[in-house]
Amino acid sequence: MRFDILTVLPDLLDSPLNHSIIKRARDNGVAEVHVHDIRDWSVDKHRKVDDYPFGGDAGMVMQVQPVHDAIRFLCSQRHYDEIIYTSPDGERFSQKMANAFSLKENILLLCGHYKGVDHRVREHLVTREVSIGDYVLTGGELAACVICDAVIRLLPGGMGDETSALTDSFQDNLLAPPVYTRPSEFNGWRVPDVLLSGNHALITEWQEREAYERTRRLRPELLDE
Ligand code: SAH
Repeated sequence: MRFDILTVLPDLLDSPLNHSIIKRARDNGVAEVHVHDIRDWSVDKHRKVDDYPFGGDAGMVMQVQPVHDAIRFLCSQRHYDEIIYTSPDGERFSQKMANAFSLKENILLLCGHYKGVDHRVREHLVTREVSIGDYVLTGGELAACVICDAVIRLLPGGMGDETSALTDSFQDNLLAPPVYTRPSEFNGWRVPDVLLSGNHALITEWQEREAYERTRRLRPELLDE
């Protein structure tokens, strides 16, 4: 699977895309992530990509031309299943959406900055708008990293242990059960006996019960879905 990310701050994406599961997936050829600087499509001699908003508000707006040319160029290279603008007023990102994206081949992510992009980009060029939550970030770069991370860890070969994504929170609308590791006792705090019993049927039963109980207590609305 391939992600292309359009941004005015490519450096901001460096670290998150080059560690842990994303790095391994990229090294193993499970996922490709290509970051493009929107300024490369600016026709301004200072590589400017923003301008004052019509109507005279404070702040700057990303101009339509560089974003249009960047998207057109990338679309001439391959077909994108989705062209996603990251935006606080978009569809809320979720595990379900991550699962669906993990089945796609090519996804283009457009990161906004400043006050956002010229609305004509949203009207004519993107296929989808996605928010990572009800708060406003400085730019879409962190949102793009969140989306890449959540999707890439689902790809076959993305994680070390292939089955481990299946027991994560929100798969099957359940939160994950608690996890423990050695030592079995610390400060007098003991790990539940059942986990030390070696009885896999009992352990699975305990994990399922805990997952259900935690969901009922912390996120009961998930059980209605
Ligand atoms: N003025 C805009 C916010 C601009 S924030 C508004 O009030 O809706 C600058 C950029 O950060 C946005 O264009 C978007 O790409 C990104 N961004 C901010 N918050 C986000 C969120 N919750 N989810 C996804 N992207 C977000």
